[in-house]
Amino acid sequence: MSKTIIISNRLPLQLKINDNSLEAIPSVGGLATGMKSVHRDGNGVWIGWTGLTEEEIPESMQDDVIKACRKEQCVPVTLDQEDIDGFYYGFSNRTIWPLFHYFMEYAEFERQNWKTYKQVNEKFAKVVLENIEEGDTVWVHDYQLMLLPELIKKERPDVRVGFFLHIPFPSYEVFRTLPWRKEILRGLLGSDLIGFHTYDYERHFLSSVSRILRLDVNFNEIMLGDRLVTVNSYPMGIDYDKFEKAALANKEQNSKEQSELQRRLDLHLDATPDAKMILSIDRLDYTKGIANRIRAYEYFLEKYPNYKEKVRLVMLAVPSRSNVPQYQKLKKEVDELVGRINGKFATVSWTPIWYFFRSMPFDNLIDLYTSCDIALLTPIRDGMNLVAKEYIATRTDKTGVLILSEMTGAALEMNEALLINPNNFEEIAETLKEAIEMPEEEQIKRNVQMQKRLKRYNVEKWASEFLEALKKTKEKTDLVKAIKIKKEQQQELMQAYQNAEKRILFLDYDGTLRSFVSDPANAKPDQEMLNLVNSIQAQKNTDVVIISGRDRDTLGKWWQEIPVTLIAEHGVWKRKTGEDWEITEKIKNDWMPQIRPILETYVDRTPGTFIEEKNYSLAWHYRNADPELGEIRANELSNVIKELASNKDLGVLDGNKVLEIKSGAVNKGKAVSKEIFNKNYSFIFSIGDDWTDEFMFEDLPETAYTVKVGMQKTAARFYVEDTAHVRQLLQEFAKN
Ligand code: UDP
Repeated sequence: MSKTIIISNRLPLQLKINDNSLEAIPSVGGLATGMKSVHRDGNGVWIGWTGLTEEEIPESMQDDVIKACRKEQCVPVTLDQEDIDGFYYGFSNRTIWPLFHYFMEYAEFERQNWKTYKQVNEKFAKVVLENIEEGDTVWVHDYQLMLLPELIKKERPDVRVGFFLHIPFPSYEVFRTLPWRKEILRGLLGSDLIGFHTYDYERHFLSSVSRILRLDVNFNEIMLGDRLVTVNSYPMGIDYDKFEKAALANKEQNSKEQSELQRRLDLHLDATPDAKMILSIDRLDYTKGIANRIRAYEYFLEKYPNYKEKVRLVMLAVPSRSNVPQYQKLKKEVDELVGRINGKFATVSWTPIWYFFRSMPFDNLIDLYTSCDIALLTPIRDGMNLVAKEYIATRTDKTGVLILSEMTGAALEMNEALLINPNNFEEIAETLKEAIEMPEEEQIKRNVQMQKRLKRYNVEKWASEFLEALKKTKEKTDLVKAIKIKKEQQQELMQAYQNAEKRILFLDYDGTLRSFVSDPANAKPDQEMLNLVNSIQAQKNTDVVIISGRDRDTLGKWWQEIPVTLIAEHGVWKRKTGEDWEITEKIKNDWMPQIRPILETYVDRTPGTFIEEKNYSLAWHYRNADPELGEIRANELSNVIKELASNKDLGVLDGNKVLEIKSGAVNKGKAVSKEIFNKNYSFIFSIGDDWTDEFMFEDLPETAYTVKVGMQKTAARFYVEDTAHVRQLLQEFAKN
């Protein structure tokens, strides 16, 4: 039975070494809950690090670790201290984390850490590959394992691989600063489905793929050889029922059952019933905007002194990554700020900030969530922010106000919260006042909406939607109707070729006989190609036609020595072997002086583009432009010309990174039809790569062997992957 393999940096368990025994205690984070149905209830396997380094586990207990993990349906990846330093504290937390959260000045680009990151990803890959069986699905999680999808796909192309990034994906402008940006993107593109929390992160990723790897991005799909990678957003939810139930149970507790924390909170709530408690919970991380929050609170107390003794900020900062210097600095800053503000405002009966620097057990979190009237969450950047969702889920009487930074992924789903810019502390202070004064009916109105949404799109739904989408990822081969020319098709083709009495081959030039280069003037055919075509045309009863969008002078010069028929400018000109060029269509070019200036404005506005002028057409090339800008401008230009030319019989041909404007009466389809008319060819072959070649594929008889270069939607019957395969095919023809 096929299974789902979940992979994350940390396994959802805690290893505890007792005197001479070992115990694996399952931890129930949000991710583990979301995965429950595929992991625990299914026959899933979770692969990851146990949290203990090789050095920390006695030699004699190594096997026990594996056994203890197995019991929890987990498989450990063994990492030593050096791995953890370079991969986790190093590359993951000192490079990717700050960079992806827009803290560019904190990002360290250390080669050694990158090397370790690669090595550890390979270690993970090894364990994963050992555990994969046919039909399995793999789901890789988060920024520590961005190279893993490619490592898996390379060895197991048959296995479906999903990846989810739990942190933001930054804008291209930020991502491009990473020295290993290409490797990271390629690593991720080993997946069939890549998920992000929000559409913005998805958009940033697609833009980086298009600009850095220069791959074709089609809406949310990326063409990659014979694979299709789908990218989408799936905002992660919480285990709603668990928080709701815990909050309800908290209400029912009698004083004996209550925690010490709850008793203390109640004491204050009872003593000052009209005072408001403001909650702040996060890991002590520079992305969370904790210092700004405290400063905004200070500003609030100064601006609205009547609220002194009437508000209290309950601040829980969970220790995190304390061996990374920026975190140590932040700890000092927060300690000082809290000290200063408490010193400045405290009275005998009131401390403005209650500060906890520790992590709290689940029940205490519920105490805090349910006791506080306001949650103040002001991250500078946060991929999602689950605390915001958890706070709302615990508000079972539907009161409470959430103040949330608009820089969190959660803000996009929690529009009814009071959204603030975390860098604007005046705004935060004003919003705090608004929250304190918000009437209960309004609180309820807002929370009802949010609760409905959170309950429906909970963490299980999130996981099942992702896995469902992963299952449905299409093979690119399913989309392209043309058949790939493999051994069998090639044999059939050669058989037909040999048996035919009279044959003709139409060969497109750029992108077919020759791969693209940045300057089209440099794309001369090489000697091998010239010889190849020459030996085919020399065969009995065989006509070869090079059919191109190129101008006649270039084409004529390049193929001067080879006695083939040349068709230039998509069919405007024709040169039979040994004869002069002749014009095949009566077409006009008097429109050129009007259209050229329009193209020139596009050249001025789009760096890297240029105009190629032919006798009867103008081509605007944008291969060297920024890919996204190029596509946008090409679209614009195409519309402009079509509108202008509607009464002029001008056509716009959309080639491979080129727009060609020419008389509508001409195309390659018409040219090939004329060529075969009344000639009784018993074998017709045509091959080409772009949109302009589709006219030939469409207009040739159904029995013709039409071949597209590249795996794309086409009217051709067959396809080959690239120009190297075209050459191989021509070599077969030449053998006859
Ligand atoms: N949390 C916890 N113990 C604590 C404080 C918080 O387990 O003492 C949990 C909290 O319930 C939430 C998570 O930590 O589920 C924090 O997730 P969030 O997305 O808000 O921030 P992250 O730490 O992932 O950046």
